[in-house]
Amino acid sequence: MHILVTNDDGVASPGLHALAEAMRALGTVWVVAPDRERTAVGHALTLHKPLRLTPLGNRIFAVNGTPTDCVNLAVKVVLPKPPGLVISGINRGVNLGDDVTYSGTVSAALEGTILGVPSIAVSQEGGDRFRFEVGARYAKRIAQLTLEHGLPEETMLNVNIPDRPRNAIKGVRVTCLSRRRFENPIVEKIDPHGRKYYWIAGTRIAWNRQKDSDHEAIRQGMVSITPIHLDSTHYGVLERLRSWEQLIEGIRPAGHARGRR
Ligand code: MN
Repeated sequence: MHILVTNDDGVASPGLHALAEAMRALGTVWVVAPDRERTAVGHALTLHKPLRLTPLGNRIFAVNGTPTDCVNLAVKVVLPKPPGLVISGINRGVNLGDDVTYSGTVSAALEGTILGVPSIAVSQEGGDRFRFEVGARYAKRIAQLTLEHGLPEETMLNVNIPDRPRNAIKGVRVTCLSRRRFENPIVEKIDPHGRKYYWIAGTRIAWNRQKDSDHEAIRQGMVSITPIHLDSTHYGVLERLRSWEQLIEGIRPAGHARGRR
């Protein structure tokens, strides 16, 4: 069984190596990760410059690209056959709620899912330091269950670990994504030439207090596992939105817009 380990913090990140080490008990581990930090690149794919694979050791490679590039190169070029699992992390910092849309960590797992491989993203709460050894223990157990039972079709797991010693973790919760708000999300400054510039630098202040949300689980000291489906179609509004079809078709030149249906 081949297991692909990647991340968005870069190939030198201790979280990546803690995760790879934990996976070695479950299969043949391949590490293919960005050559430097690529946090918040989302699901970006590099199309306009050459990608290079740099071997760094036994089944460890750096790529001058994004987490999504890494998963593609690993699955299609590096590994002798497709992996049984893609696992991404352990990320320095949680990926809760809306974070998943920016996260390179989560996007790597989404890419694995798109390629038909069961995939997991693992992120660790922390501050000055991160208890990756705690995250790695849980990652190993969740990976083991995933290999044994598989995952529902087109579904990845987004796992977040609270910043607590192992014996202080309160439990494990299957959760839904939360929503958040930022305080002063954009900081405006003046450069030495007198021109304005901006930092996207807000701090989170509030999340919606949904009882089953990923944020609530972490706040309560629990491991959060959110199943994320590739198909983000909102099926509940399809019918309502269909009434727009004719309203939009109405912009076509006369003679074409009418008569259909
Ligand atoms: Mn990161």
